[in-house]
Amino acid sequence: MEPYLANRFGNPSSVHGPGREARAALEDARARVAEALGARREEIVFTGGGTESDNLAMLGRWRAVRSGSVILSAIEHSAVRESAAQAAREGAEVATVAVDEAGRLDVAALEELLDGPVVVVSVMWANNEVGAVQPVDEVARLCDARGATFHTDAVQAVGHIPVSVERTPCHLLALSAHKFGGPRGVGALFVRSGTDLQPLLHGGGQESGLRAGTSNVAGAVGLATALDAALTELEAERSRLGALRDRLQARLLAAVPDLDVNAASTERLPHILSVGLNGIEPDLLLPSLDLEGLAVSSGSACQSGSHSPSHVMVAMGRRHDAVIRFSMGWTTTETEMERAVELFVRTLDRVRAATAGGLA
Ligand code: PLP
Repeated sequence: MEPYLANRFGNPSSVHGPGREARAALEDARARVAEALGARREEIVFTGGGTESDNLAMLGRWRAVRSGSVILSAIEHSAVRESAAQAAREGAEVATVAVDEAGRLDVAALEELLDGPVVVVSVMWANNEVGAVQPVDEVARLCDARGATFHTDAVQAVGHIPVSVERTPCHLLALSAHKFGGPRGVGALFVRSGTDLQPLLHGGGQESGLRAGTSNVAGAVGLATALDAALTELEAERSRLGALRDRLQARLLAAVPDLDVNAASTERLPHILSVGLNGIEPDLLLPSLDLEGLAVSSGSACQSGSHSPSHVMVAMGRRHDAVIRFSMGWTTTETEMERAVELFVRTLDRVRAATAGGLA
């Protein structure tokens, strides 16, 4: 990325030499992302991240049609949920599809909803709070057969598990660079040829008219390079992190027998472990873990600071006093995982003892 942040400052929309150089880098990044997903180069739109990609997919599709319903799973990220809420304010009928106790979509319930006129269906590839992988191939085929546009938020999946738009006939797919080691603030939306979208931003004709504004060349280069690296390591990292996650889970269960693993009975992302606990005050536990140097989150980071249970836990019908999400990545080592268990168990015991003794 460095040359494009420092001295290769050309605007890819300019026709002069530095502009052409920047354009070549941008188009090379686009080609690499397309190849990684099994897409065509012209089907990749660079955006300002996962949130923008989800908004462009949902609202862009709704505004291109403006009648009919928008369907989403009950466990979508707020980027999709709030886009659907905005579509509702603009006249869309919004329907939500339930998940089971493991966090997996009820495909039969979705099938019933596909009888009416449907603008877009959104089911995430994998959930960010509990890691549950969704039956996206089945949903994509179902939507395709019924003539409904299918969007999948693959922000948590890309770079971690195999994702291909060749194998999965979705129409729209969102990804975000910072989830696979790339820079923050850049993402992409796959838009299958023939899928009509209204842009969210109005101005120049960049990104085939779907995303006006001078392109973030360094960001696109960073995204493509991180994706290449993540895919080269994908199978090795998937099994390494999956094994690390399984050991983390086993160690925690051995030390804290009343710990409840979320989404335990379904396919999960290798790098996320979500656990529920009762008899604990989350407002005491999380800051105490942070003071010990353990960076975990309560369900989703976007949820922290809010006292209501996350919509994902509600949809799964699970109630715990506290939900803790451990996430790991390519830098996480076995030693760190062992240390995390030690810190977690010690802190949990201390906070529980303090709460029970009324010291809190
Ligand atoms: N979708 C999912 C599933 C996510 O986990 C996130 C980020 O946490 C987003 C969308 C939003 O992506 P970004 O932070 O790049 O806007």
